[in-house]
Amino acid sequence: MTHAIPSIAIIGAGMGGLAAAAALRLKGLDVTVYEQARQFARVGAGIQIGCNAMHVLRGLGLEERLRADTFYPRSWNNRDSKTGDVMFDMEFGQPAERRYGAPYLLAHRGDLHAALASAVPDEIVRLDHRLTGLDQTGDGSVTLRFAHGATARADAVIAADGVNSLAKKILFGESPPNFTGRIAYRTVYPASRLGGLAILDDCTKWWGPDRHIIMYYVKPDRSEIYFVTSQPEPGFEFESWSATGDIGALSDAFAEFHPQVKGVIAASTEVFKRPLVDREPMARWGEGNVTLLGDACHPMTPYMAQGAAMAIEDAAVLSRCLEGVERAGIAAALRRYEANRQERTARMQLTSRQNAWGKGATDTDWVYGYNAWTAELA
Ligand code: FAD
Repeated sequence: MTHAIPSIAIIGAGMGGLAAAAALRLKGLDVTVYEQARQFARVGAGIQIGCNAMHVLRGLGLEERLRADTFYPRSWNNRDSKTGDVMFDMEFGQPAERRYGAPYLLAHRGDLHAALASAVPDEIVRLDHRLTGLDQTGDGSVTLRFAHGATARADAVIAADGVNSLAKKILFGESPPNFTGRIAYRTVYPASRLGGLAILDDCTKWWGPDRHIIMYYVKPDRSEIYFVTSQPEPGFEFESWSATGDIGALSDAFAEFHPQVKGVIAASTEVFKRPLVDREPMARWGEGNVTLLGDACHPMTPYMAQGAAMAIEDAAVLSRCLEGVERAGIAAALRRYEANRQERTARMQLTSRQNAWGKGATDTDWVYGYNAWTAELA
């Protein structure tokens, strides 16, 4: 290859892949994104955007758009499933914005994805490109092979291809993620369907003995509401954002919860379900001029609402490590990115797994107070 500027291939146009593409372009790199889907689908889900992720998104020029499209909660309240007693009120709004330097926002997942896509020119995103193989050649470049027979070459490959990453399998062999034995049911719907039901908080996690439900608004005018559960349901391991669930089974599972929870579930007309998985922290994320990013290397349970935030932080740190690097320095730059991300993402995976975030008084500074653009790099 004769490029003066290194060419970077990103696999996957999810939250992590698009954030990486936008961040690497900001640093002047030549980026192409390869995504298996034929088109972007608007997944019916909400997503919490932590202050730490907002620092990165601000740097990508997306703050104004996201503030206009999302809900700005006073807090994430935690309540007992039956009595409604407050267990811990995790305060956001202005106090958190002052403390952490960026807002905490609640979004429709489709709105966050569309915002990230707006930061990446369409012409560098190749849809309908399912990666099937990767070969690192002796000269330091990487050849990518796709399902329809096309090939491409790049100086470096960033695999942001999600929890079932093919790139991870190619680099380190087959090892399926841990199925937690739990399912997330979720849906987004117009809040007008709630009729006169009084909603207690902007964002609430209702804690039961072995299950919980989180509900929050995803639009600035409270016009749409989202809920997502975690409940035991062994035997369902089909990972997809579009698998539908049974509202009757969901209602039965929360029959003992507070009347507000039952009212919010009863107002839904369709629900989706997805198994909850994670992994042990991985000792290695890459080899040569290939590395992993996001759920491909650190999938976690959603109990801290930090999975996408970690992928977005990865993107900023990766771009800082690759800035100004010539082809010969790529492998070292990728190892530096990995070394600077592994401790924090491992801590997040292991803390999230405990499902204790917000259950009682919680120190939130280490999560939301991190700015991936300015954090010291080793
Ligand atoms: P993905 O979003 O999975 O994207 C991977 C992309 O790669 C996809 O577009 C896929 O089509 C593509 N791809 C895969 N294989 C190939 C291939 N072979 N060739 C080409 N393309 C390929 N995180 C938060 O920060 N806040 C939250 O509130 C939150 N809530 C959550 C709630 C639930 C129920 C769940 C399950 C997760 C939640 N998360 C949350 C976590 C978050 O969804 C993930 O961490 C995040 O989506 C990971 O992004 P990613 O880009 O790494 O992977």
